[in-house]
Amino acid sequence: MIIGIITAITFPLYNTFVENIEYKVCENNRIMLENNYKTYLEYEQIEDKEMVFNDFLDEYDQKICPDGGEIIYKDGHILCTKHSNIIDDTEDQPVPYLYDYHLKIMME
Ligand SMILES: [Zn+2]
Repeated sequence: MIIGIITAITFPLYNTFVENIEYKVCENNRIMLENNYKTYLEYEQIEDKEMVFNDFLDEYDQKICPDGGEIIYKDGHILCTKHSNIIDDTEDQPVPYLYDYHLKIMME
């Protein structure tokens, strides 16, 4: 009985914890990818285009989103379909302060 209660309490907390971690990993990976991509553009003297990014992403041998979100490139920013809140997604709400931070980047 006690175990049942503890599980009931900790399980949602654990889920939120994992979601937050995944969100942060995804965010960090995207920042890293963006840095690599911009370095690549500079080094190769290539113009920044969505197609160029997609080729770069194909060659990029690292998983970006731990939650299997799709990585898309929009207006110079690398977004995740699961963690960037591009699509109306009521299930996966991003961490509020991180989302604000992301919005600030997008408005710059
Ligand atoms: Zn993601």
